[in-house]
Amino acid sequence: MSLAASAPGMQTTPAVDGLSCTDCGTDYDPATQGRCPACGGALAVRYDVDAAEIDRETLSARRFDGISRYADLLPFSAETLVTAGEGATPLVACPDLAAELGVAEVYVKDEGHNPTGTTVDRQAAVAVAAAREQGAETVAHPTTGDSGQSVAAYAARAGLDSEAFVPARSTFVAKAMTNVHGGEMSVEQGRYDDVVDSFEDASADADWHSLRPFETPYRQEGAKTLLYEVVEQLDWTAPDAVVHPTGHGLGVVGSHRATADLRETGLVEETPALAAAQAEGCAPVVDAHDAGAASTAVWERPDTLIGALEVPDPEGGTLALDAVRETDGDAVAVTDDEALEGAVTAAAEGVEVSATGGVGVAAAQRLAEDGALGADDTVVLVNPVAGNKENDVLRSHLMRQGV
Ligand SMILES: [Zn+2]
Repeated sequence: MSLAASAPGMQTTPAVDGLSCTDCGTDYDPATQGRCPACGGALAVRYDVDAAEIDRETLSARRFDGISRYADLLPFSAETLVTAGEGATPLVACPDLAAELGVAEVYVKDEGHNPTGTTVDRQAAVAVAAAREQGAETVAHPTTGDSGQSVAAYAARAGLDSEAFVPARSTFVAKAMTNVHGGEMSVEQGRYDDVVDSFEDASADADWHSLRPFETPYRQEGAKTLLYEVVEQLDWTAPDAVVHPTGHGLGVVGSHRATADLRETGLVEETPALAAAQAEGCAPVVDAHDAGAASTAVWERPDTLIGALEVPDPEGGTLALDAVRETDGDAVAVTDDEALEGAVTAAAEGVEVSATGGVGVAAAQRLAEDGALGADDTVVLVNPVAGNKENDVLRSHLMRQGV
């Protein structure tokens, strides 16, 4: 009998074999909450992919099903996932950008097309389902903004209450829409670390199910679906590189987990190098990568216009570093101006990339300058959030230039 089958009130898919600590390796039941009780490491879902009935033909038949088409490689069935039409986002070719970078093809994986305009919707579909399966009434987490809106929407869809702790500087649209979806929100002065302090204080006496990044093992499971889609959209070939703008590391860690699934199931043979892109004003993953460190150190004075990525102490820092190193990828920091100009460059080709996504565009430009990209390469740039959710910072950038 597998651990999955014995989990109280938690019906997982056949391929799920339990949870394991990514640090000390201890095994846990899938309903275990929080980080590893033994060592504080992040827990991750363990799969027996042989039990997953998945192949290219099955997936082709599910063409319009969003992320639930990959349910065999997710913790929950299509019926259990909390879906609002997330996933199946466009992979948009950018030939002008490819010419500029000197590579064969560049695509933007435009996550702005998700229901609340962010790649977090993939994570919320799985993590909110886990919360509901475990009988939670209220989900709560600290956020730089976008995931507050996403989780409020998915909690509403699941019939749960939500609590988001956000910094005052987060975008107006994220704060407004969190409330519109019926979510409770605490807006904190200061920066993200102040928000985390408030969340920890408030949650000490509350019966909340935490959706803090990597405090639930299920957000990164939803994040996996991005790379599944990319290889399918490229007709079952892997790109050479995927660039993830990186805060906590959920995107790049999700893609790293997807590379293992894709190889083990035989869906593709090759998998991409993963690059983590950060703003120079808050780049703990890049710093640790450059120093050859095994884990990230707290960034003492975070200061970037790219608010979604201003995460001084990434919850998935160690795992993000593993993702970069084990895929022969890279970690790149760019200035705010380079990121904003990167978004404008994509916009000039008609692709609405956010300031956050511009970090990835600028990182690819840096990789090209450094000779890290080849003339035959296919490069995918993840735009984690819709351009029009960050219109103010992009417009301000143009105004500073007198446009
Ligand atoms: Zn552990």
